[in-house]
Amino acid sequence: MEIKTVLITGASSGFGEACARWYAARGFSLILAARRRERLEKLAEELDVPVYIMQLDVRDREAVEKALDGIPAEFACVDILVNNAGLALGLAPAPEADMDDWEVMVDTNIKGLLYMTRKILPGMTARRRGHIVNMGSVAGSWPYPGGNAYGATKAFVEQFSRNLRCDVQGTGVRVTNIAPGMADTEFSLVRFKGKAEKAAATYEGVKALSAEDIAEITGWVTLQPAHVNINHLEVMPTQQA
Ligand code: NDP
Repeated sequence: MEIKTVLITGASSGFGEACARWYAARGFSLILAARRRERLEKLAEELDVPVYIMQLDVRDREAVEKALDGIPAEFACVDILVNNAGLALGLAPAPEADMDDWEVMVDTNIKGLLYMTRKILPGMTARRRGHIVNMGSVAGSWPYPGGNAYGATKAFVEQFSRNLRCDVQGTGVRVTNIAPGMADTEFSLVRFKGKAEKAAATYEGVKALSAEDIAEITGWVTLQPAHVNINHLEVMPTQQA
């Protein structure tokens, strides 16, 4: 089998880390991107496939462009891009929301995803193959109190994915938006800025999705035959209202 390369942003924890393990178990080469280099190094040590580590803040456009230009030749043909890096912060009701939190979410969830996509896409269209998986959220289509800016960033991801698919028609490149519901990762700890008790309370009464559930779905989507494009997939815990 031809060895393919997968670039995963936000690979230092949660969905991204689980995706790295999923693809590694199937022999894919990996490019792992996130800010926490030590996490990526530890993960790479555990994986039995070629791994290129890319310490990267996706909000920094110049850094993204430089990092992607610097990918070594043996990893340079990215077959699958999992645009997964993202976060929710605060999620206060709009009148009390912290403008800095809003800005970080926009910069990471929207701009970071755009920087990555714009840089990787031309190689895919030139090779006439590739798959971009964008990690959206049910928050992109289901309003809830405090979901204001976070939900809107994920609505952007969902609609950008649809429009992107139009733009790559005829090139063989596929685009998928995955919209998970509540999943037990470091997401809540980040949202509550390290307050573990509040983070744990998020999952009370619901068996949340696991990172592995989402990795399984992400992997499955990308291993469909080349003529099959799964456009949008919403996945929620059975008990999530
Ligand atoms: P985690 O907090 O476990 O993982 C988030 C990842 O994003 C980390 O690896 C983090 O790495 C990375 N990241 C955050 N900011 C940046 C940045 N500026 N530059 C590069 N990497 C960054 O959460 P999840 O795995 O749950 O989240 C993954 C995606 O799934 C996110 O887009 C999230 O919005 C989405 N999602 C999560 C849900 C959930 O309930 N968990 C539900 C629906 C969607 P580092 O800090 O090392 O940079």
